[in-house]
Amino acid sequence: MNTSTEKIEPPATKLRVLQVEDNPLDVELVQRELRRAGFDFTAAVVQTRDEFICQVQAQCPHIVLADYNLPQWRGMEALAILTHENVDVPLILVTGALGEVTAVECLKKGVTDYVLKGALARLPVAMHRALREKKLRDQRKEAEESLARKVEELARSNQELEQFAYIASHDLQEPLRMVASYTQLLGERYRGKLDETADKYIGYAVEGAQRMQTLIQDLLAFSRAGRKEPAKADADSNAVVKDALLNLTASIQESGAIVVCDDLPVVAADRLQLGQLLQNLIGNAIKFRKEHAPTISVKAEAAGDFWQFSVSDNGIGISAEHGEAIFSVFHRLHTRTEYPGNGIGLSICRKIVERYGGKIWVESTPGEGSTFKFTLPAGAGQAKGASA
Ligand code: ADP
Repeated sequence: MNTSTEKIEPPATKLRVLQVEDNPLDVELVQRELRRAGFDFTAAVVQTRDEFICQVQAQCPHIVLADYNLPQWRGMEALAILTHENVDVPLILVTGALGEVTAVECLKKGVTDYVLKGALARLPVAMHRALREKKLRDQRKEAEESLARKVEELARSNQELEQFAYIASHDLQEPLRMVASYTQLLGERYRGKLDETADKYIGYAVEGAQRMQTLIQDLLAFSRAGRKEPAKADADSNAVVKDALLNLTASIQESGAIVVCDDLPVVAADRLQLGQLLQNLIGNAIKFRKEHAPTISVKAEAAGDFWQFSVSDNGIGISAEHGEAIFSVFHRLHTRTEYPGNGIGLSICRKIVERYGGKIWVESTPGEGSTFKFTLPAGAGQAKGASA
C-alpha cells in the first residue's frame, strides 16, 4: 500500500527543481533539505514571471517550489502559467506563513501541497507524494491514450474487414456463377460419354461450386447485415413472424412442426432484418429437431425500453460450452450430412440484434431443447415496462 512517506523511483535523469524564491538563504535551506533527503537534483531559481516562463519552456521542470509572496510577483501566478502552458508539473508552495483559508483556496486552485518554511523537514515527504501522484497521472494518461488509439484502430480494421468481406463476396459471385454453370453443363452434356472417373470428378466439381455459391451468398448476407442503416420505422413482429412462417412452409410441413406464437410487440427495427432474425431462429428450431415433430414457441416480454423475445424448441439442444461460440461465423457443431448449413445464420442474428443495441443468447439443456433469447428496442409509443 502507498503511504505518504513511500519513496518513488528516482527519475532516469536528475530531478529538475524550479524554485520561485527571492531569498538566497531560503533557497539554500530548501536545497539542503532536499540533499539531506537524498534527492539527486539540479535547481534553477527565478524571481519574476518572465524568468519563470523562460525556465518552464527551456528546462521543463519536474517540480516547482514556489514562495507564496515575492516582492514583484506571487507564487500562485506560477500555477496559472503552468496551466496556460498546458504542462502538468506539481507545484508546492514553500512559504513563511499561510492562513488555513488561503491554504485551502490554493489547494483548490490546483497547488499540489504547501510547506511552511519553519517546517522544511516535511518538504521531502510532500515532494515524494507530489512526484508519485504525477507519475500515476502520466501512467493513466498514457493508458487512456493507448486505449483510445486501440479502439480507433479496431474500428478502422473492422470497417476494412467488413468492406473486404462485402467486396470479396459480391465480386466473387459472378466468376463463380460461370464456374458453376459450365461445370453443370459439362456434367449434363458429357455424362456417360467419358469414363466413370470423369463423371465422378465432374460431379465433385459441380457440388463444390454449388457449395461455394451458398457460402458466398451467406457471407454476403452477413456483411450486408452490418451495412444496412438501422431502421427509422417500427416493425410489427406479428406480421413479420407470419411472413417468416410462410417462407418456412416447406420445412414446417416436412417436419410436422407446430409453431405457437404469442401476441408479439412492435419494435424499433427494420422489418426485413427482424424477419431474417426470426426466420433463422425458427428455421434452426425446426432443423435441429429430434426424431419427433418439433414444437416451437415464440414469445416476447417487456424489459424496460426493450422487448425480450424467446424462440424455444424441444430439439437436440446445445451444451453450455458451445453456447457462445455458435454465434461466431462458420461455427457449427455438426457435419453437413447430419444437418445442412454453413454456420452463418446465428452470426447474422447477432449482428442484427447488436446493431439495435440488443443482446442475443441461448439457454439450453442438451437432449431436451433450446431457447434463443434476444432483445430489441421497443417501438415508438410502446408503454415502457408494459407486459406482453
Ligand atoms: P447453421 O444452421 O448453418 O449450422 P447457425 O449459425 O444458424 O448455422 O447455427 C450454428 C450452430 O448452432 C448450428 O450448426 C447448431 O449446431 C447450433 N444450433 C443453432 N440453433 C440450434 C437449435 N435450435 N438447437 C440446437 N442447436 C442449434
